[in-house]
Parts: sequence; structure tokens; C-alpha cells
Amino acid sequence: MQVVVERSLDNPQGLTYALEGDTGVGVGDRVIVPLGRGNTPAEGFVVAINVTPAIDPAKIKPIKSKVGVRLPPALIELSQWLSRYYCCPLGMALSTMLPAAVKRGTGTVMRTEIERVEPGERPSELKLTPSAARAWAAIETLPGELFPLPARRLADRIEERTVGPINRLVEAGLLREIRRQHIRAPWAEHAVEAPRGFTLTDDQASAVAGVVETLGTFRTHLLHGVTGSGKTEVYLRILDDVIARGEGAIVLVPEISLTPQTAGRFIGRFEEAGVAVLHSGLTASQRHQQWANVASGAARIVVGARSAVFAPFDGAGGGAVKLGLIVVDEEHDSAYKHSEAPRHHGRDVAIKRAQIEGCPVVLGSATPSLESQHNAISGRSTLHELPERVGGARLPRVEVVDLVEELRGADASARLTLLTPRLQGEIGRALDSGGQVMLLLNRRGYASYLSCADQRCGWILGCEHCDTTMVYHRARDIPVGGLLRCHHCLAEQRIAPVCPMCGSRITHFGAGTQRLEEELPRLFPRLILGQTMLRLDSDTMRRAHDYHEALSRFASGEVRLLLGTQMIAKGLDFPGVTLVGVVNADTAINMPDFRAAERTFQLVSQVAGRAGRARPIDGQRGARVLVQTFNPNEPAIVFAAQHDYKGFASQELRHRADAGLPPIGRLARIVVRDEQLPRANRLASEIVACIRAGADPALRLKGPMPCPISRIAGKHRVAVELLAPSAGPIQSALATLRDAKLVKSDAVTVVDVDPIDLL
Ligand code: ADP
Ligand code: ZN
Ligand code: ZN
Repeated sequence: MQVVVERSLDNPQGLTYALEGDTGVGVGDRVIVPLGRGNTPAEGFVVAINVTPAIDPAKIKPIKSKVGVRLPPALIELSQWLSRYYCCPLGMALSTMLPAAVKRGTGTVMRTEIERVEPGERPSELKLTPSAARAWAAIETLPGELFPLPARRLADRIEERTVGPINRLVEAGLLREIRRQHIRAPWAEHAVEAPRGFTLTDDQASAVAGVVETLGTFRTHLLHGVTGSGKTEVYLRILDDVIARGEGAIVLVPEISLTPQTAGRFIGRFEEAGVAVLHSGLTASQRHQQWANVASGAARIVVGARSAVFAPFDGAGGGAVKLGLIVVDEEHDSAYKHSEAPRHHGRDVAIKRAQIEGCPVVLGSATPSLESQHNAISGRSTLHELPERVGGARLPRVEVVDLVEELRGADASARLTLLTPRLQGEIGRALDSGGQVMLLLNRRGYASYLSCADQRCGWILGCEHCDTTMVYHRARDIPVGGLLRCHHCLAEQRIAPVCPMCGSRITHFGAGTQRLEEELPRLFPRLILGQTMLRLDSDTMRRAHDYHEALSRFASGEVRLLLGTQMIAKGLDFPGVTLVGVVNADTAINMPDFRAAERTFQLVSQVAGRAGRARPIDGQRGARVLVQTFNPNEPAIVFAAQHDYKGFASQELRHRADAGLPPIGRLARIVVRDEQLPRANRLASEIVACIRAGADPALRLKGPMPCPISRIAGKHRVAVELLAPSAGPIQSALATLRDAKLVKSDAVTVVDVDPIDLL
């Protein structure tokens, strides 16, 4: 038997142990095994059984015991793929699949419950008091599914004030007490009354039919629907069919769009089938409970963030039902990519799992990733389009504002904050007419950098530990000035009063959300921070709860202006919004990253989709979107303003093809991190030499080269990039490196297959 131990070295096959006697241990069981010379007990998963041992049979140790947690065989297979494809130890891949709370059994309690004794086992002679006899008569009529249950609840069911009669029935041998394991977790998610029964549009109906046709087989579908086109309704209707087949489904949404409303829509429709919700706001016991509900078959639909793709559905038996469908909503969202090892992408894992389980997967988005668009064009997946909004609402008119023109003659504060006269005018009009405003600025803090006012000096405040500038944050609890924070290593320091080089005044540049939050009430006195205006970014929204609360205050109309980073651009539906302003659309354009244009297009399109979701009222001007930019001719912005996804995608895919970049080519990136630059360079060169030695001629290597951020938290960063027309050559190069023990997936080397962050 092969067992993979989480702490084991990078041993893809795992370790071999003997199974003694009939322990009932099978593939996927979590077991305790003796590890190493000291026979230290370690937990691991059984990945194979009945293998021919590669070591001396006399040296094989027996497993110690079974833990009681089990991963379905499909997940074991998926972990083997994760380990291979993303180049990480199998133990790490396996441990990613199981929430820590499940491993630890958090919240598990034993509870005494009552069940009925089978008729054949009941005593032949009965002497019951009248009250016990009455109770028994009532209990006999109860449906069998109700049992076992706690004595108190049983008493309530038969309308007895005390548990006395039940205790007497236990003594008489008609009822029996059993001890049962429970997970204690108060659950607070509520169903949202979801309208149903409306007729699907033709486009929706054909998308539903197209996916339903493939239930029971593996197929990837791309559902490209503009914001408000009824994508969620399409998922819900397909789920009806999945449930009718007796199967289950996983619906993945980015963490941030997993609002109580989203979850509630699914709970409202599928209360009977059971809906488990998995997000980061759960307590450990709640997470354990939700997971256990899937494993036992009590929940057949899972709505959750990235890690929900590992929900324990099981076609091979056990309590869980077979997985019949995976939905990945907002599939383009970069939150699906895991930023730590294993650096997997939730969407790609979903596709692989669907393939293993033999079920379809639906990727939905208003702005599909170019990866998914490329697959649709090349026929690897089926495209379904919803080009129109439901209910007659139209996409808003998007106006591009040229910041160079608009700032000519503007005052200093407008130049700094980019609250141009044009944008100010529109905000004023929207507020006057009772509308709501969303302002997007993808930059946190007060100012993005500080520098010496004397241009001849040129001093700029950088982070001591990183190759970046420090961002200026105003802190309310600090009387003067504020705090400088590095967004990469989180180092903080107090602001210096004057330039340390020449003693001149210090000025700040690049206004962030904090600065705008200060400026807006000055311009519009009716905006009061915390009352009629809110700021939404990762500094103000520490917990999911803060975020949900802010959104519900905006939805209620109490908050008139919402200012925030891209957090506000995601999947939100506010009919009262009449103005959406993108303060600076260029925050991503100049990034040294080949996806800069794609990100800009997505950001502008997604935020523009927030406006005008209600049908315009006759005589009133519709919602508008203002996009401010220093690059008004940038294709990403022009296409987004015209709601022209296809135009953008085909042009951008051409550029990518010319450069051999993803999604046409494949990319993996290795980053070596070391406090000593020469040492980092040496290891990177060894890596390059090792790959070169046996490389496929189709493989292209770039580097060693310094990363765009060449130092973070005191560590120098040297990158090597592997490019190839297909995944094969990259995979075999990584396997070679792994065998040569040159990438150990530790603190020194980072392997990122299909990276999305290239800084
Ligand atoms: P998306 O997920 O594409 O943004 P939703 O599925 O949330 O769109 O649909 C937007 C709104 O339109 C929701 O309130 C939904 O209930 C409603 N809706 C969806 N499909 C229809 C339909 N065929 N007829 C009427 N209303 C619909
Ligand atoms: Zn730093
Ligand atoms: Zn200076």
C-alpha cells in the first residue's frame, strides 16, 4: 500500500506501508503511519493499494490506525495531477484539498439520540403506563427519516411537555439511546426569495439546452454574457436538471462576490437538495460542518470560493452523490489563482476535475479570460452567448475623458486628485437628481509616493527592504502626518518632515482612495464620510462582514457615493446607480506585464456594467459612465468604452500569438529568492543550464533576469521564464528540474505554472 504523508519529501509515489488484517482501509483514507527512524506518528492519505513494493518487504512497516476522514478517489487522482502539473509535493497537494478544520475535526461533539427499536427486537410483553402508551402511539406514526433525534426534540414532536414518557419507553425496550457524532456549528446563511417561473430569453434557453445536453459527459462550456444578461439564471436552470438526475454540483464564485445575496439565491431555489456554502468568513466548525454535509449527501449543491472545487462529491459511493456539474462564475477573475504553493488556478482545476468526474463545466463571464476565449474559438469548448441584458435594460453609454485636455487650466488639487471639472460636474448632477455614484480608483492609501519638492534633488522615498516606493497612508490615530507602508513587505515607517538629502519640503504624488475620501466632502458638502459616503478597499474592509454591510447600506440608498478599488467592480447589482466614474483607468496599463491591456479592459468593462441595470425611465437621462485616462487612444480603453469584447479579444490574441505568449503559447516562471544576489544568480543559472541540457527544441528560455520588483522583504529576486507552444515541453523541463533537486518548492525557489502575476 502506498501512503503519502504530508510532511514527506517530494516523493511523487509516497511511502509504502503494510496493511495488517482486515482494517477496511482503502484509497483516500486518512491514516496514521510511523515515519522515519524514530517511528514518529504522521498523518497521510492512502493513494494506492496492492502495489508491488520497491523496497525489501521485510522493511515495510505496518500502518498504525485509520483517522476516519476520507477523500474520494477522484480527488486523489486530482491531487496527483496538481502535484505533477503545478510542480509541488503530492503531500502538499493532498493537504490543500482538505480544510484544516476537517482534518482536526473542529466542533465535533458526541450527542445522545433516540431511535426506534426494530419490531423484531421489541420485547414480547409490554407493561406501559397510560402516558407512555399514548407517547408510543404517537411515536409509531412518525416517519422513519426523523430518527435518530435528541429526546427533547422527540418530546416536542409528540407534544409532550417532558421527556419522562420517552425515558420510560427506553426502559421498556421500545426506544433505544445511541451516541452520535455531530458538528456543532450555528449556521446563519439565509435563503433569499428568488423570483422564479419567468420565461427564459431565447439566448438563455439555448445556453441551458446546450449544457444540459452534455450532462453525464465531460465538456467545457463558455457562457459569455454581458453584465445583467441572466447568467445566474442559466446556472440555476441547469442545476434543476443536475438535481433531477440525482447528482450534485459545485458553483464557484470569487470570494468577494460571495455575498449573502448570491448564496441566498441558490439556497432559496435548492433548499430541498441542500446547499453548502464555503467562504473565508466561516468559523472552523462551520467549515467542517459544510464539508461533512457534502460528504454525507445532505448537501448536493456547493456554492463557494476557490477551494470549494475540492468539495468531497463522490461518484464511487459513500454518502456523497456524484458530481454532475461545475460552474465557474466570473471565470476571468484573478482571485481564482492561488498565490501560494500549490500555485493552482481554480478554473483550470475545475476543468480537470470535470474531466476526471466525467461531467460538464460551465465558465461564465462578461469579459472571458483570453485563455477561455481562445479555447472557445479553437473548438476546445462550446461557446454560448447572451449579448443582451434581460428586461430591456441597456448597456450604459461610456464616455472617455482625456485627462491631458481636461486638466489644462484645472487647479492644483484637481491635478493631484484627478477629480476633473468634468467629473465633478457629473457627480454633482447625479447627486442633485437623486442618483447614486460609484467611483473607482485602483490605488489604496493617500499618496502612492513621496518625493523631494526640489526637482534637482530628485529624492524619492523607497522601501528599505524592497525595490518599490512606500505608499503614504493617513492614519487617524497618528496626530501629525501619517504612516508610510510598503505594499509588498508591509514594512511601516513614520513620515519624515523634510527631505533627508537636502532638507527641502516633501510633496506627494499619485493620490489614492484615502486622498479622494478627504477631497470629496470638501467639494460636495452633502457627502459625509461614513454616512452618505463610504470607502471600500482592503484597508477599510478587513472582514467579509464589513464588506457585506457596506454593500447593503449602499443598496438601501442611504449611502449616495461609494468610492473604492476594484472591489466595487465585482458582480454587484445596484439599480440606483446613475453615474460610474473611473478616476484613473491607467493604473494597470503601464505595468510590466503582458496582461496589462487585458486587465484594463476587464476593469473598465466590469465597472461600466455596474451602471444602468434598471430599465431607463422615460424622459430621464440614462446612467452614464465616465472613464478618465491619459491614454484615450489605448485600444483596451476604446474597446471597453464601446462594449466590444470581441474586437478587443481578437486584436489582443493576435498580439499574443505574435509574441508566443499565453494563451497561444504556454508559460511557466521560476523565481529564485535570496538575500545574496550572486547566490540567487548562480542558482538561476544552474536551473537554466539543467533545462537547456535536455530541452525540447520547442522550449524557449528567458533569463536569468531580475524580476520587475527586483527585491522584496530583503530578498533579491531572479526570474527564469519557460515558454513553449504547448504544455508538454514545459512539463518535461520542470520534471527534469525536480529530479535534479533544483526546484524544491521551498522558500528559495518558486515555481509558478501559468502565472498571472509577473512582478
Ligand atoms: P448576470 O448573472 O448575468 O449578471 P442575473 O442572472 O443576475 O444576471 O440576472 C439579472 C436579473 O435579471 C436578476 O434579477 C434575474 O432574476 C433577472 N432575470 C434573469 N433572467 C430573466 C428572465 N428570463 N426574465 C426576467 N428576468 C430575468
Ligand atoms: Zn517593502
Ligand atoms: Zn531633496
